Amino acid sequence: NATALGQTLNALDGQKYGAYKRIKGSYQFAQYQLAVDHVQVDPYAPPSKMRIILNRKTAGIPDELLDTKDKRIAVADFLTRAFWNKIQATNKKVKDSGTNGKVLIDRCGQEILERTSVVVNVDDIEVRFEVGLPAAGRKIKGKSASYLFKTVLPEVVEQALLYRNLDQKALKEQVTLMLDQSFIRSELDQRGLVGFVANGAILPRKSGVSDKPLEKAVSFASPKNFETQIELPSGRTVIGMGIPGGITLIVGGGYHGKSTLLQALERGVYHHIAGDGRELVVTRQDAVKIRAEDGRNIEKVNISPFINHLPGGKDTMRFSTENASGSTSQAANVMEALEADTSLLLIDEDTSATNFMIRDGRMQKLIAPDKEPITPFTNKIKPLYETLDVSTILIVGGSGDYFEVADQILMMDEYQLKDVTETAKTVANTEGYRREDVSHDQFGDIPARIPLKKSFAKSGKESRLKVKGRDTILYGREPIDISGLEQLVDDSQTNGIAMMIDFLQRQIVDEKVTLEQAADKLYKYIEENGLDAISPYTGHPGNLALPRKQEFCAAINRYRGLKIKE
Ligand code: ADP
Ligand code: MG
Repeated sequence: NATALGQTLNALDGQKYGAYKRIKGSYQFAQYQLAVDHVQVDPYAPPSKMRIILNRKTAGIPDELLDTKDKRIAVADFLTRAFWNKIQATNKKVKDSGTNGKVLIDRCGQEILERTSVVVNVDDIEVRFEVGLPAAGRKIKGKSASYLFKTVLPEVVEQALLYRNLDQKALKEQVTLMLDQSFIRSELDQRGLVGFVANGAILPRKSGVSDKPLEKAVSFASPKNFETQIELPSGRTVIGMGIPGGITLIVGGGYHGKSTLLQALERGVYHHIAGDGRELVVTRQDAVKIRAEDGRNIEKVNISPFINHLPGGKDTMRFSTENASGSTSQAANVMEALEADTSLLLIDEDTSATNFMIRDGRMQKLIAPDKEPITPFTNKIKPLYETLDVSTILIVGGSGDYFEVADQILMMDEYQLKDVTETAKTVANTEGYRREDVSHDQFGDIPARIPLKKSFAKSGKESRLKVKGRDTILYGREPIDISGLEQLVDDSQTNGIAMMIDFLQRQIVDEKVTLEQAADKLYKYIEENGLDAISPYTGHPGNLALPRKQEFCAAINRYRGLKIKE
């Protein structure tokens, strides 16, 4: 029990750091159980992994805040933040630049994600955190450690996990907001919308490196004819812009706020915390940002809807390259997003290949069609909607080529969104401005891609997955660059992807399932068994967050070792 832990730590004082391993085990404290799952070997190694297991009755959070999955995610997020906030004060007192003497837990950003830092079970609440066990040089500071477990942690539990000490109003509001957001998302489908942006939303962010809202921003207001009203489960009524399915073009001058709107929609696949400004910006859950990503690896993707007759007769039905160009990478990104079941593409001219997006009249005259391998997106965007029911929201401020095909054309004018559909259509129909080659092809096939076992079936060192920040996963010696995945928002999601690849490499036994089917199976498994279940390390998978299927598949598609069946 707790006393035993204190005695052991006192006895360890001054001994070599490695002796800390004696404290591995489980201890009963007055309010909770402490499990020491993994003890670091030295003060510079990753901190030790522990859990607090708290009876739900002790925690005292009302059952009506925990009786659905959405609610449990909202509460777990809230507790993670509360725990994080509490430990900041005590960590500040520790004078060490490393983790020595500090308590750590997953840090949540503006999004509310399904995480493993706090898990609400039927009977208990489990909090997974890390401790940099205190050291002086390479010697154990037993008294500091004892103080940390006897005084610091119980206080953190008391203040950050017990309902009676929590900001109960804020907790209830977070749960309510989560339910409202989920409701808006379900309303999108009901009303044939692909996105919703509430009037009054604050879209711009503080800076390029801060995801907090910009102060003194111009709040969002819907063009009148796109306004829809939604009665939320909380009893609130919200009015905002409902973006219909189909093709939505956003135009406007540079620096007028176009990209900011699109970025808010990209993030609208996630729930946001109160005060974020985007908490009532909701997009279809499967929306995918499509961008150019030159240099990426492509493995047997059918990019022929966009690219044909490449020099040298290179196959574009099953196109492979280790170094994609801007346009081929963007084409592959579209095809892979379709493979991963998206129903909404989000495209910004700022991050697109121009020759993928448009080809103007003069260029059409200069270069014969059979000399230009690219069918620009202008010609495919409509078949994409009509034959596959995939909508697109795109920003093109530099060309009017999308005027004909767009269902609605919105203009950002000094951060104010206006409906300019009619004017733009009139321009498009004016003699001299008409486009010639607006074909209405079929979209083309999305053939099955079956990963070969040998892509994954590795053992020993080569099978190890390591995460380097948000943007890189190391698979054996092979780095997977996922910096192009703009909708991946959290390092813990990257951890999640790495764990899922690790899980997948042990699951792929035959070569019959497509990447997409394998992913679906994996997500079903997680749905049934919890996110924890993909972690091979029992006891403490404390820093995983669930990525979307779209990002998971995208990561595998960027893996240079991926081999697809012929
Ligand atoms: P565009 O894509 O049209 O060139 P951006 O979306 O990049 O424009 O926005 C340009 C700048 O204006 C950015 O610094 C952004 O933070 C800021 N901004 C965007 N929307 C707003 C707003 N509603 N209120 C205040 N500033 C904004
Ligand atoms: Mg822009």
